[in-house]
Amino acid sequence: KDLLTVRDLSVRVEEKNILKSLNLSVKPGETHVLMGPNGAGKSTLGNTLMGNPHYEVIGGSVEFQGQNLLDLPVNERAKAGIFMSFQNPLEVPGISLANFIRNAIEQRTGKRIRLWDFRKEIAKALEVLNMDPSYADRDLNVGFSGGEKKKAEILQLLMLKPSLAILDETDSGLDVDAVRTVSRGVEEYQKDKDSALIIITHNMGILSSLKVDKAHVLVKGSIVADGDGSLVEEINRDGFAKFENKE
Ligand code: ADP
Ligand code: MG
Ligand code: MG
Repeated sequence: KDLLTVRDLSVRVEEKNILKSLNLSVKPGETHVLMGPNGAGKSTLGNTLMGNPHYEVIGGSVEFQGQNLLDLPVNERAKAGIFMSFQNPLEVPGISLANFIRNAIEQRTGKRIRLWDFRKEIAKALEVLNMDPSYADRDLNVGFSGGEKKKAEILQLLMLKPSLAILDETDSGLDVDAVRTVSRGVEEYQKDKDSALIIITHNMGILSSLKVDKAHVLVKGSIVADGDGSLVEEINRDGFAKFENKE
């Protein structure tokens, strides 16, 4: 049974049709890679699923865990178990990374989490990500380098344990070591057999150690090719030209 079913989804941004009858199904535990040239609409899909009000759904439906996702208020979507990492995460002075995460977990579960348990768990996740424990006490993203911001996103992923995570170019602009670290964090997330992942990336580096179940090519708002891990390799070798010319 599907975790996420996107049917004929059409989305408009600023009076422009961006997504055109897009179809995508994700089952629990699956990892999908979403590729496509710049401006194809990859981030638009993620933003639409998260309920960003700039993105106007003009057709189609989205079902998540059996419920109509498009009817869910934005603040309910994270609670329902969807997580998205952003290309440019916000800096929030006055709130530490640890408190931000603890708050988010409590919001999501509706339960208080004991400080001791929380500290133990975040220490473990920080270790997976090669982050000094002191990061957790710094203000959220303030003064973080690009790489540190991305690691902080993966830290949230590991702590929040969503059922569906959308990683939007979490690996862009990272050096080789940071890509490896982020990849290790994502691998850790994949260990949970129920956790699904949509990963938007141009980087083979992050994919090399990850399990990939399906890959999709998005061109001008529609999915023009589906495949498995070998499609990722093909794109990496030959680029998108073949798919762009097909329409
Ligand atoms: P991708 O992530 O595949 O590079 P995007 O989804 O970011 O592509 O963008 C698809 C198209 O939608 C682009 O033409 C982009 O300019 C436009 N777009 C996306 N978000 C916005 C926005 N908030 N305001 C105006 N245009 C947008
Ligand atoms: Mg882009
Ligand atoms: Mg994008």
